[in-house]
Amino acid sequence: MLKVGITGGIGSGKTTVCRIFETLGVSVYYADDRAKALMNKDENIRNRVIALFGMDAYLTDGQLNRKYIAERVFQNQPLLAQLNAVVHPAVFNDSQQWFMQHEDKPYTLYEAAILFESGSHLFLDKTITVFAPLEERVARTMKRDKASKEEVMERVAKQLPEEEKIKKADFVIYNDHSAPLIGQVLTIHQRLIELSG
Ligand code: ATP
Repeated sequence: MLKVGITGGIGSGKTTVCRIFETLGVSVYYADDRAKALMNKDENIRNRVIALFGMDAYLTDGQLNRKYIAERVFQNQPLLAQLNAVVHPAVFNDSQQWFMQHEDKPYTLYEAAILFESGSHLFLDKTITVFAPLEERVARTMKRDKASKEEVMERVAKQLPEEEKIKKADFVIYNDHSAPLIGQVLTIHQRLIELSG
């Protein structure tokens, strides 16, 4: 089974593209969602997050206080590194188990906003970058997250530039109206099935 990473800048359309792959029967591991779920549910991780951030790390309903954590790690690189040291290995282990459960498939997708930045691509066989023009990414994300332009630009600034992600990837999907997404997905799907055979 081939393990294929899929990434792209904020609002590039990674999730939208993954949904198309899913309609073809491809299973997708959503790393960012799994990380949040682990931080909410895994007792060991919860305790380690509380050790780093205090009791305010979780809301009274038990859910992760993402806003508080984001504020605390903003411009505090060492604290962010400590948080990553808790979360990244947990996601890695969780994803390895998930991959094992999908061994019978020709290939699966591992979707993450930071793939090359986190080094996750090193344990994957192939990678796909989803590209969309910055203006559209910002406009779509502002609409989706009801966020200001400044807030979105702050998140953009923390990610690897799109050109770098394109250079590093084995495949690129252009979500820029130059060609229909479905056709691009089908071409890569066929190629990955061939490669897995
Ligand atoms: P993030 O990294 O922020 O999670 P993402 O890369 O997963 O973003 P999506 O959530 O798939 O991006 O897309 C961002 C927004 O843009 C969504 O609301 C989505 O519906 C919309 N969108 C993506 N691609 C297109 C498209 N080709 N046409 C219209 N809307 C689109």
